[in-house]
Amino acid sequence: MRPVSYLRPDGVDDAVQAVTADPGSHFLAGGTTEVDLLRQHVLAPRRLVDINRLPLAGIEDLPDGGVRIGALARMSEAAASPAVRERFPMVSQALELGASAQLRHMASMGGNMLQKVRCAYYRDGESPCNKREPGSGCSALHGVSRTHAVLGVSDHCIATHPSDVAVPLAALDARIHTRGVHGERSHTVDEFFLQPGATPHREHPLDHGELITAIEVPALPMARRSRYLKVRDRESYEFALVSVAAAVDTDDGAISGVRIALGGVAVKPWRARRAEEVLLGAPATDETFERAAREELAAARTTAMNAFKPDLARRTLVRALRALTTTGTVTGRQG
Ligand SMILES: Cc1cc2nc3c(=O)[nH]c(=O)nc-3n(C[C@H](O)[C@H](O)[C@H](O)COP(=O)(O)OP(=O)(O)OC[C@H]3O[C@@H](n4cnc5c(N)ncnc54)[C@H](O)[C@@H]3O)c2cc1C
Repeated sequence: MRPVSYLRPDGVDDAVQAVTADPGSHFLAGGTTEVDLLRQHVLAPRRLVDINRLPLAGIEDLPDGGVRIGALARMSEAAASPAVRERFPMVSQALELGASAQLRHMASMGGNMLQKVRCAYYRDGESPCNKREPGSGCSALHGVSRTHAVLGVSDHCIATHPSDVAVPLAALDARIHTRGVHGERSHTVDEFFLQPGATPHREHPLDHGELITAIEVPALPMARRSRYLKVRDRESYEFALVSVAAAVDTDDGAISGVRIALGGVAVKPWRARRAEEVLLGAPATDETFERAAREELAAARTTAMNAFKPDLARRTLVRALRALTTTGTVTGRQG
């Protein structure tokens, strides 16, 4: 057995300093990723620095219509927050469609951003995996890859980013705020998640010991009618095969504002910028929606097992856009 020591500081600076000073220390929030992977010998911290006493659990309405979600707010708290539900329904829908009720009560918003991929080769702790052991190879490329990514993939990694809530946060240009020994920084969600390229072990720009303190969602009036659609193999307790977070505004039948991000199909929460370009100013018709979806997915690179994903993503995106521009009613469930 390998011993793991434990520290529970009260202050943000103490926590940051403790982890920064020791490469073998990891932060511990809800533990729903960290403890799983420690038990599976995928992560091997020498010390866990429990951050649950830090004053980072608040959810604050911002006067301009945005919302600031503390890193230690639980997924269930963020989902239930009146400001999140009313101003950004796709955020609360994505949270409620993730994991299980018990997990959502434990799991923190900061930890959610840093959850690890669900690729079985990463998680078995043994197979060649460039993310876990740089340079060892990617077993998924020629292995079991039905759930893997088709956008943003490289010859070194095709793991899908698993977070649901990071998808609407990418569409909303939310910012991730951090504190490190050199001060505070912030990144948009799109900047925060890195594509694998030749360095899949580098998943984000954080230094070791840099703490996520909050996620800030800027005001976006059209997001009040936004939706998150999640398609998966079973109705609950399952990761997305494809998901779509979308908000659309129309003016006299034309699209006057649009935000879209895709989940389940890409190596990071995927802001669908090409689809947004096609849609903006165009008539809100099925023909436009089809063209936008096809152009966004044109760069998809599939394996024999996940070749169904671009078509599933196209159909899910068209369905979300159609629903948002007609009656506005669409359930968050199966597509
Ligand atoms: C069975 C199961 C099903 C799941 N299904 C889904 C799903 O459908 N959709 C979905 O989105 N997620 C799903 N998840 C993932 C779950 O949402 C994450 O495990 C959870 O959000 C992680 O949060 P945590 O507080 O438990 O993080 P922890 O496990 O405590 O930490 C995770 C990682 O982040 C680091 N960390 C934590 N907080 C901070 C911080 N503030 N600053 C810097 N580093 C930090 C830790 O060091 C660790 O490396 C599932 C998990 C399980 C176990």
